[in-house]
Amino acid sequence: MTGGLPPLVDTHCHLVLLEERGLLDQALEGALAAGVDEIVSVGLNLEDSDHNRRIAEEHAGVYFTCGWHPHEKAAPDSRELDALSELLRHPKAVAVGEVGLDLFFRPGYHEVPLDIQERSFRAMLELARDAGKPVLIHDRDAHDEVLAAVAGVPGSRGVMHCFSGDAAFAQRCAELGFIASFSGIVTFPRSEKIQDAARTAADDGFVVETDSPFLSPVPERGKPNLPERVAITAAAVARLRETPEAVVRAATTLTAHRVLGITAPSTAAARA
Ligand SMILES: [Zn+2]
Ligand SMILES: [Zn+2]
Repeated sequence: MTGGLPPLVDTHCHLVLLEERGLLDQALEGALAAGVDEIVSVGLNLEDSDHNRRIAEEHAGVYFTCGWHPHEKAAPDSRELDALSELLRHPKAVAVGEVGLDLFFRPGYHEVPLDIQERSFRAMLELARDAGKPVLIHDRDAHDEVLAAVAGVPGSRGVMHCFSGDAAFAQRCAELGFIASFSGIVTFPRSEKIQDAARTAADDGFVVETDSPFLSPVPERGKPNLPERVAITAAAVARLRETPEAVVRAATTLTAHRVLGITAPSTAAARA
């Protein structure tokens, strides 16, 4: 508890990238102080997922995922899929992700052709289905393509990370078994449609995340993001919903536990 507020889960951040920036200790200590008792550290490929596994093993309250980001230049081969599948059996592996589609093509951002992205995404959706795990989806400018891919692998379920659609898209995702995860983007000006989705989502239909080190929320925008700032996003969502911050914190933590299958007690003591 922090100031009497229930604990929070940062359902999506990149502790490996924070470690590379020399920010890992600060990130973990700051999270604990802010009542962010649990952190899901998300993998981008096989090597990165395994690196996240090591960080999760070293820290109570930290979980990891096995991913293949749409910016990966080739789809995973059978050896890599076997290794990801093996990694997914780890007790702290909670999901497949991040995976998905990214149609925001820019030199220096990424230029991976859609057909390669679709092959990667399909393979990873099947991996998640076979393992009975939820999927964390990266969808940038690809709403329809993502939903088509998800519908192609029945039984898929999970989270639309850094949710960037409107309320109607959130509803379509919910019908396919996917909840929204609101990030610092919800605090940016000109995010009216995303704010509307945050206002209208079901109480048990969304979670919150940082995607740190990216997407630091207002008023910390422009700095490397940290897991503790998921509290800023939760407070912003509470204001949009005209509900107490404690309600959003408690509901998103319950939802994160349910969707990601986290059963550990969410207490600061668990991380001591
Ligand atoms: Zn992403
Ligand atoms: Zn991410």
